Amino acid sequence: MSTHQTDVVVVGAGAAGLAAARGLHERRVDFLILEARERIGGRAYTIPSSDGAFPIELGAEFIHGEAPQTHALLRESGEAALQTAAADFVLRNGRLERGSDRWSAVERLFGSVDLGAPDRSVDALLEGARRSGYSDDELRTARTFIEGFEAAITSDAGSVALARQWRAGVDTSPSRPDGGYGPLLAFLAKPLGDRLRLNARVEEIRWSRSGAYVRAVGGEELVQIEARRVIVTVPAGVLHAGDVRFTPPLPARTRAALDAIAMGPVVKVMLEFESAFWETVDAGRFRDAGFFQAFECEIPTLWTRLPQRIPLLAAWAGGGAVARLEARGADAIAEALATCRSLFPSVDVRAKLRAVHMHDWQTDPLSRGAYSYLRVGGGDARDALALPVDDTLFFAGEATSADDPGTVEGALRSGERAVAQVL
Ligand SMILES: Cc1cc2nc3c(=O)[nH]c(=O)nc-3n(C[C@H](O)[C@H](O)[C@H](O)COP(=O)(O)OP(=O)(O)OC[C@H]3O[C@@H](n4cnc5c(N)ncnc54)[C@H](O)[C@@H]3O)c2cc1C
Repeated sequence: MSTHQTDVVVVGAGAAGLAAARGLHERRVDFLILEARERIGGRAYTIPSSDGAFPIELGAEFIHGEAPQTHALLRESGEAALQTAAADFVLRNGRLERGSDRWSAVERLFGSVDLGAPDRSVDALLEGARRSGYSDDELRTARTFIEGFEAAITSDAGSVALARQWRAGVDTSPSRPDGGYGPLLAFLAKPLGDRLRLNARVEEIRWSRSGAYVRAVGGEELVQIEARRVIVTVPAGVLHAGDVRFTPPLPARTRAALDAIAMGPVVKVMLEFESAFWETVDAGRFRDAGFFQAFECEIPTLWTRLPQRIPLLAAWAGGGAVARLEARGADAIAEALATCRSLFPSVDVRAKLRAVHMHDWQTDPLSRGAYSYLRVGGGDARDALALPVDDTLFFAGEATSADDPGTVEGALRSGERAVAQVL
């Protein structure tokens, strides 16, 4: 076993860990950043298309809301953000119609939540809405969006936290980094040199008020690092699974915060075609389409890369929709193609398919889900998880971001917040 000493160890080189490492680097703090994968980026995972012509996002893709950190980094790294404003279509009775108000049912539903009342599940909220006269169509639309956007299991997700988030404003026409998130995170990693260790999976953190020993494995090698402080950015799902052992165990306050946070599942299938065939279907009616909704399909949402005109469709299901797919043992790729066929019955979509790309975030032991949501009664669990433990352990990552949970922006900002706490 090799042993090292440093001031701060950062665990995980996703957006949060890289932002933390950058902050430490800029302040000339001695640190090491340990990443279990062979690559940086974590749940932001950009790969090239099969001909190398455009980027494909297997994880994070959009920039939601103002996202000041993300935009600042884009500017610094010379990358551009592209706005997605485009037409939406909804499949109704076998026909694709323009759907201009795709968020209104959700907005009305969350607008009705009494933020001071005891929390209840999204299912209970939907049931109340049904009794107060919402139509089946509105309820289905609301459920699909809550599942899809929040990756929420509606029987488990708290309605108060989601209502707060939606009332604060949800960005209905987000942007995207032009070249994907990959270059942005590579830019953050660039100055780190050999302080960034890939293939280094942290197994155990032995901690006390005076510091910590971090034990990591990389291939055959076992490394022990003595550090004054540790910033832990692994996903909440990894912490839930106990894959990083804390000795002694984390205090009850931190464990309670973790228990109140769930990891939501997402299926994202990237379908690469020979051509952007939908642009010519029906005399070009869908040439400027951004999103397609097919509520009756198991994978209900599809989107294009507009304003980039490239032959790629993303098929998306989140939260309960994924749980239902899994319960049926359904094949995600077959279901994604089935959605395409329902939307474009005149096209032989399989014949036009060039490649399919996806990553299973649920079974990936280094993510164990896509992104977090708050369970019923979750309240301020994200802030509670972000509280330092004995001035030695500091938690960061999207799950600790009360303002921008489940996003790259939230992860970036949490990394910077952790550095401020450490200092
Ligand atoms: C399919 C999908 C789509 C998404 N879409 C969007 C979107 O459009 N816009 C958006 O803003 N966000 C989106 N997100 C969420 C976004 O990707 C995350 O919020 C963000 O990337 C999380 O960053 P993080 O640093 O908190 O965690 P991560 O990126 O998960 O980083 C944590 C790192 O820790 C590493 N790790 C885990 N265990 C260990 C260990 N034991 N030792 C060492 N390292 C370890 C992991 O490998 C990982 O690299 C999406 C996520 C998914 C999965």
